[in-house]
Amino acid sequence: MTSLTDLGTVAYSMSLTREMPSTKPCPLCGSGTREDVAHPEAPLRRCGSCDHCFADLELLDQRETYDESYGDDDHQNWFENPNLELFWRISSVIGDDARSVIDLGCGRAQFLSCLHSHTKVDGDRRLVGVEQTTFVPPDGVEIVHSPFDEWSTTERFDAVVSLAVIEHVDDPVDFLRRASELAEPGGRVVIMTLNDRSLLYLASRVLRRFGITGPFDQLYSRHHLHHFNKSSLLAAFAAVDLEVETRWDHNIPAAAVDFPSQGAIADGVRLLGVRSLFLLGRLTRRCYLQTVVARVAA
Ligand SMILES: [Zn+2]
Repeated sequence: MTSLTDLGTVAYSMSLTREMPSTKPCPLCGSGTREDVAHPEAPLRRCGSCDHCFADLELLDQRETYDESYGDDDHQNWFENPNLELFWRISSVIGDDARSVIDLGCGRAQFLSCLHSHTKVDGDRRLVGVEQTTFVPPDGVEIVHSPFDEWSTTERFDAVVSLAVIEHVDDPVDFLRRASELAEPGGRVVIMTLNDRSLLYLASRVLRRFGITGPFDQLYSRHHLHHFNKSSLLAAFAAVDLEVETRWDHNIPAAAVDFPSQGAIADGVRLLGVRSLFLLGRLTRRCYLQTVVARVAA
């Protein structure tokens, strides 16, 4: 039989466990981390140094699945409203000199299709997308149907691009290392991801304090394992010795935001809120997303 003394010892040791400093280092900079605010499905931790927020994979009891219906339900707006402004800016940065471009986790290959449509380079430009879901490839684009972490090649590319993918992977540093290994010496690596210090994220945390948990629950759901800020994303690039050339903050088209419908009025209020936060974010350079372009050593 368990005695009261035993129960007291257990309670005391549990208390000590909660107060002990974290032994789980930041996956990007290696510094200590602490538990972040509670989330119903994703146990979150936050780095004491670079402020990176990430899901504790050991405690995550259910993982996101990426099947053929991925773009058909919860992410329909995202796929139907591609971020052309971003596509054109990346195209301008990598230039027409990039004769071969690969997009890791390319979705429906909308970026590569845009590149193909607007390229001034002759027809020998090579555009490759790696994607585990199947779809009909657009003109001028070759698709490798495979999870990118299970695919390898000896081919090297002038530009390695990955948009809204790094926040889904278990190990972002390993992902960046593999991306850099796919690039030619002197080639570029372009990564777009979330910005945890954006006004949209900030508003979700403030609303949560007032009992409005929907935006926070959606933004920090298990769908995204990593919530980068400027410092933590740059720490990831530094960890693999990638020299950052440029970085910028930006949004997505407001129409591309997906959220579960709660009726016309509620949906309209949320869309107005998102548009306002996107505008303020642009003015204060605290936008929803961020993109980094880096050079691989020549
Ligand atoms: Zn860190």
